Amino acid sequence: MSFFWQNEANFIVSEVTHLLRIDVSLRWRVFRVWFCVLAALLGCRDAAPNATAPATAATPTFSGRADIAAEMRTAAAAPRGAADGGGRAWIEDGPTAVTAGTLGSWRFIYEVGDKGIAEGGRIIFMTSPFWGWSVPQDRSAEAPGYVTVQTAATGVTLTPEISGSPLMGIAVGGRALASGERIAVAYGGATGARTDRFAEVRSHFWFGVDGDGDGTHRFLVDSPAVTVEAGQPRTLVAIAPSTVRPGGELAVRISLLDANGNAGFPFAGELALTSEPSGLELPAAARIDPADRGTITVRLRAPSDGVFRVRASGAGDFVAISNPIVVTAPDAPLILWGDLHGHSELSDGTGSAADYFRFARDVAGLDVVSLTDHDHWGVLHLDQSPDLWAEIRAQAEAFHDPGRFVTLQGYEWTSWEHGHRHVLFFDDNAALYSSIDPRFDEPRELWDALRGRDAITVAHHSAGGPIAIDWSIAPDPALEPVTEVVSVHGVSEARDSPSVIYDPVPGNFVRDALGRGYRFGFVGSGDSHDGHPGLAHIASGGTGGLAAIIAPDLSRGAVHEALRQRRVYATSGPRIYLRVALSTHPMGSIVKRAELTGAGEEPSLYVHVIGTDTIDYLDIVRTGMPVRRRVAAPELEVVIPINNPQPGEYVYVRVVQTDGGLAWSSPIFIE
Ligand SMILES: [Zn+2]
Ligand SMILES: [Zn+2]
Repeated sequence: MSFFWQNEANFIVSEVTHLLRIDVSLRWRVFRVWFCVLAALLGCRDAAPNATAPATAATPTFSGRADIAAEMRTAAAAPRGAADGGGRAWIEDGPTAVTAGTLGSWRFIYEVGDKGIAEGGRIIFMTSPFWGWSVPQDRSAEAPGYVTVQTAATGVTLTPEISGSPLMGIAVGGRALASGERIAVAYGGATGARTDRFAEVRSHFWFGVDGDGDGTHRFLVDSPAVTVEAGQPRTLVAIAPSTVRPGGELAVRISLLDANGNAGFPFAGELALTSEPSGLELPAAARIDPADRGTITVRLRAPSDGVFRVRASGAGDFVAISNPIVVTAPDAPLILWGDLHGHSELSDGTGSAADYFRFARDVAGLDVVSLTDHDHWGVLHLDQSPDLWAEIRAQAEAFHDPGRFVTLQGYEWTSWEHGHRHVLFFDDNAALYSSIDPRFDEPRELWDALRGRDAITVAHHSAGGPIAIDWSIAPDPALEPVTEVVSVHGVSEARDSPSVIYDPVPGNFVRDALGRGYRFGFVGSGDSHDGHPGLAHIASGGTGGLAAIIAPDLSRGAVHEALRQRRVYATSGPRIYLRVALSTHPMGSIVKRAELTGAGEEPSLYVHVIGTDTIDYLDIVRTGMPVRRRVAAPELEVVIPINNPQPGEYVYVRVVQTDGGLAWSSPIFIE
């Protein structure tokens, strides 16, 4: 089997595991079948080696995917022929803009480049491989995604190689194709092809060329693309800061989103605004004009104390109630909301880097965000594309606005041998150490490269999902102070967590890592691929992820310091307010036992949580199994005795809401 198929198949197969979390029951079946087809067709290995592992065993069974890493390295090193990636392609007929989740048909022309294409070479056609474009098929003109290929070049035969994946080959036979000769690819036919579910400015129809028939190819960087636009609004969201100083101003972001969480529909209407309970100074109504593209910012003023929500209603039958807004003491730290992990079109996600940052700021109302595209994963690779890496860094700097919106330069070190970590920089000079570069392909080599820099790494989907983390390598305590416990992939905290990650590896949860003596704070982040940082839970229909960062001000330095001190907590997406302290020591602290017991009083855990829905349970996790308390209220403030704490113990809490929303405090460690 020729090499390019294997490589691309692995790439797509792994994306299958990304997709599994969405519409889980259906997609499980569909993509398992898809994978089985690919596996049989392509001779590649099982994408989910841990799927059948017993769920209750305690022994870690992490095993890396060295096979994928090796194929990545081989593919990266394989020489490309001069004719690979030659020529150009364009849309001859068909729309240049479509609505997300609808149908369209296109006719593309590919024109051979000046090096020609040898007999035995291939042209590759690939729809944007994620999020719902119909898979190209040549079986039925009545089914979506029907493809035909034609050429006027006499003596040339074109053989479509349909793979059941978004990637199809078109084998060139009979004779070589000469420079300037053309082939036509029709996609969709009379029935149409289903479009991407997620809005973006450039959804590519990728053309690739293996000009010499050696099995390696290059994609045309300027492959044709269409704009995918948001559909009709289905939900209204109102997002507020969780903390505001007495008498302070705050901005609430209000957006109309379509069924897939896309913003941007040119809507016109009016919203009534109220403070619940009364107390916030706010306008009684706000107008949405088509030029607002469904998103407005309303500025309010807080009173001297209290807890409030903003209710927005109208524009049809829409109603949104914001997360709780807590007026703090004048000198109290703020809760900053961050999404520190997500992807764009620059690796395997949706939408441009600029649109990612814009959504994070204007729609999701984030305070802190990082775009962490993969170093070597996706259609194009950051570690081989200096322009793409420069684009991420440039956009991060363009949007960075200390005091209002903090961006962090970063990327994802996508190791298939040791597990994935994203790397975050707190200066304007990020460096990319690739997970397939032999100098940096082991976590300790990565940390050595980062030592002395204002940077951290964050292990993610560590209990399973696409690949678990190899916890046998102790995380660097200085460079890995926090860990991601929740994202769209699910929850990696513990086997007893709600919404546990798919394909969990027994003994590999974050709580198991705490059991090894590692100390981290907990963050959530979306790992979004849909262009919706901060709101990844909307389209996932389950978990997303947010990092609550407790800091005195909104700057890169303050965010870095809060992460280093573990003054953070995690949620699955909703902006749940949570404060936790053991005696006087806030979450993330490392406390000496004598400091807790010296005063003669038993230490106690203070917990204050204000939900975005009814809080079902508060789970108190003290060095192992949780102890559950029924809450059944929107707010809880309690003091819980922690008897006789011992060195080596830790304690944290987990909040479970009726709507499935989750939050975790960082642990407090006792030594
Ligand atoms: Zn990852
Ligand atoms: Zn990721």
